[in-house]
Amino acid sequence: MKYFLESRNNPKLLTIIIPCYNEESVLPYLKDRLNRFLETLPTKTELIFVNDGSDDHTIFELVNWAKDDPRIQVVSLSRNFGHQIAVTAGMDYAKGDAIVIMDADLQDPPEVILEMLTKYREGYDVVYGQRMARSGESFFKKTTAWAFYRIMKILVHKDLPLDSGDFRLISRRCLDALNGLRENHRFLRGMNAWIGFPQTPVYYNRDPRVAGETKYPLRKMLKLAMNAAVSFSPLPLRFSLGLGIIVAIIGFAVGVYALFRAFQHFILQMPIVYNPGWATIVTLICLIGGSILISIGILGEYIARIFEESKGRPLYVVEFVKGKTIESKKK
Ligand code: UDP
Ligand code: MG
Repeated sequence: MKYFLESRNNPKLLTIIIPCYNEESVLPYLKDRLNRFLETLPTKTELIFVNDGSDDHTIFELVNWAKDDPRIQVVSLSRNFGHQIAVTAGMDYAKGDAIVIMDADLQDPPEVILEMLTKYREGYDVVYGQRMARSGESFFKKTTAWAFYRIMKILVHKDLPLDSGDFRLISRRCLDALNGLRENHRFLRGMNAWIGFPQTPVYYNRDPRVAGETKYPLRKMLKLAMNAAVSFSPLPLRFSLGLGIIVAIIGFAVGVYALFRAFQHFILQMPIVYNPGWATIVTLICLIGGSILISIGILGEYIARIFEESKGRPLYVVEFVKGKTIESKKK
């Protein structure tokens, strides 16, 4: 897609959203690095920390930090809702003309935000960090992540960028659209791809965590992958229809073959090996299996539609409207 880009100034206010779940060991480093980095930022900044039901001292640290620094807002959730929801809460509270989502653990270097702002000024609405290297992560994490991004691209959206997490800058108009999608099972990157708007990567090296350990164990990663696949794509639901059609075709072919063998044996009295009953059983199994799968598949088609409707998403998102007299009737 070709983008119609209009250059613009830096956002007047930039909101940086940082979800935190048991990050007490990370916060001192983060505070130090952010304080130094914010000096170099050419925009006014608001920092929103979302405490996602931490069990450690994260919330105390955050509240103390907010006492000394008027740029800091703390949104504390009543329990652990998970990373994607924590980020969503931050997005709801953000007042900035653009937002940046980043991890607390400094795996996403804040300095990359400067490059993101350059792209923002060129007119891009979404600038996502694309990872070139992952240092300090296990072979297992790297391979599962590699496979995750490739499978999700097929299942979620063709525009889903590869090797990009939630570290990204989003413009106000795109954020407003994103905030309109209120589905429970959230996969923000996929939703962001669905929204559209001019998007571009900036490349960066993902650093190791400064302290603490990952809050995304395999269990949570699988849950995210499942959410992404199932809440975006009716493909898994349609699986049985495809399978049913294949099994039914095989059943039909075997049936024809079996009739042919029976014809040779009984009518033409040819001396061939023929097991009575075999053809009937194989054909029946394939036909019944096939028809059951087809019916499940058709049910799946209906459920897929219910599922699409139940998301209650807007039908489209408008990027901009130009012209003297044009006006949307939709309020
Ligand atoms: N996080 C959160 N709620 C959770 C899990 C994680 O808010 O239930 C936050 C966490 O504090 C961190 C970010 O989400 O700021 C990413 O988590 P992490 O760095 O552990 O994930 P990884 O980079 O290992 O995939
Ligand atoms: Mg991390």
